[in-house]
Amino acid sequence: MASPCDLVLHAAHILCRTQDAAIHTLADGALAVTDGAISALGPRTELARQWQPRRELDLGNALLLPGLINAHTHASMTVFRGIADDLPLMEWLNKHIFPLERRLTRRFVHLGALLGCAEMIRTGTSAFQDMYLMEDEVCRAADLAGLRCLAGEVVFAFPTAAIPKPEEALDLVREQAARWQGHPRVRIAVMPHAVYTTRPDTLRDCMALAEELDLPLHMHLAESAAESASCLEMHGKRPIPYCRDLGLLTPRTSLAHVVDVTEEELDILAQSGVYVVHNPSSNMKLASGVARVPAMLDRGIRLALGTDGAAANNRLNMFTEMGRAALLHKLEGRDPSLCPAGKIFEAATTGGAGALGDSRLGVLEAGRPADIIALDLDAPNLQPMYAPVSHAVYAATGMEVRMNMVDGEILYLDGSFTRFNYPDLIAEMREIQQEVGAIHADLTQNSA
Ligand SMILES: [Zn+2]
Repeated sequence: MASPCDLVLHAAHILCRTQDAAIHTLADGALAVTDGAISALGPRTELARQWQPRRELDLGNALLLPGLINAHTHASMTVFRGIADDLPLMEWLNKHIFPLERRLTRRFVHLGALLGCAEMIRTGTSAFQDMYLMEDEVCRAADLAGLRCLAGEVVFAFPTAAIPKPEEALDLVREQAARWQGHPRVRIAVMPHAVYTTRPDTLRDCMALAEELDLPLHMHLAESAAESASCLEMHGKRPIPYCRDLGLLTPRTSLAHVVDVTEEELDILAQSGVYVVHNPSSNMKLASGVARVPAMLDRGIRLALGTDGAAANNRLNMFTEMGRAALLHKLEGRDPSLCPAGKIFEAATTGGAGALGDSRLGVLEAGRPADIIALDLDAPNLQPMYAPVSHAVYAATGMEVRMNMVDGEILYLDGSFTRFNYPDLIAEMREIQQEVGAIHADLTQNSA
C-alpha cells in the first residue's frame, strides 16, 4: 500500500544522501515531501510504488540541490546597490553608508529586505543570516517571502536611526526574541556590529544575553588591517584576542570576514569552535584583503559563506559567492588544489547550517527539512554534466534556478514568485530609488 504524501518531485539528477551513504547523485530520482520535510528519496520507479502524492511536479532535466545558505548579509542594503562603489572600507562606511543609514525608514528596511529575499530566492538561497537596523522589518520580509532567516538587530555603542539610546539596544533584541519565538522559519540572534563600533561592555553584555536566551551571536570581525590597528590602539589587543578575552569566541558565535589574522589567531579560532563566514566578493570589492581560508580549512575551522550586503558585493547570489571563493584562494596561493569545489559547496550548505545554528539544513536526506532548489540542466552553461558540485561552484550563475522550495513550500517556480507580487515590488523600488538617490545627493553635497 502506498503512503500518502504532499508532493513528489521528479528530476533527472538529485544530489543527496540516501541510507548511510556519502553524498552522491541519484539519476532519474524522485523525492517525497510531507509536512515540510523530505519523507523519502530514491529512484523514480521505487517512489512511485511507495508514495501516493497529492501533487506531483516533474522538473525534467533538472538537478536538485539543497538550498544554499547565505551566512552573512544585510538584505535591506539592496536599496543602496551601486550607490557608492570603488571606495575603501572606512571611507565607504563613514562617508556613505553610515550617513545614509542615519536616514533609514522602516519602509526602506522592509522593501529592501523583500527585494533581497527575492534575489536570494531567485538565485537558490533558502536561508540567510541577517544583521541590520530595524531588523523586525527584515523578519517580516523573510516571513512574507518564505525564507528561513536568523536575524539580529545590529548593536552599536552609539545612537542610530533605530535605537536613539544605545543602552536600550539589548532590550529591543530581547523583545524581538520574544516576538519571533516559535516561528517555524524566523529566529533571532544577538548581533554586535564590530569591535570599532562597540565598547568592551557592549560586547560582554551581548554575549551574556546570547547565553541567557540561548541565542547565536554574530558579528563582523578582523575585516581589515585598519580595524586591527585601531583595535590595538584603543584596546591594546588585536580583534581576535580582544574578543577571546571578552568571552565572545564560542561555538554559538559566527564571525563575518575574518581577513586580517595571524597564525596564533587562527589557532585561537580553531580551538574556540566559532564559525567563520567568508565573504570573498565584499573583501575583494572593498580591498579588505584575502581571508586565509585554506589555512582555516587545514586547521578544521568551521567555514560558512556569505554575500555581505548589496552595497559591498553587489549581489546576494550564493552561486557567485561560491565561484569567487573557489577561485580567489587558488590565485592567492598559486595552487589550483586550494579550496576545491566540494569544500566550497560544503561551506555554502552544511557550513552555513552550522553557522545559523540549524544543523538539519544543507543536505537532501530523508527526515530533513525540504529546502530544495532545482537547476535547469538544459542551460547551455550546464551541459554536459560530469560532476554536479563542479557545476554548482564553477559553471552555474544562479539564474538557472527553476525552483526554490523552503519548508516544503515552493517559493519560486519557472519565473514566478509564489508569495508576493514581484511587479508591485519593482514599482516600489522605483520610488525608493528616487528617495534614496535624493538623500545621497544631499549628503554628498553637504560633505563636499
Ligand atoms: Zn557585513
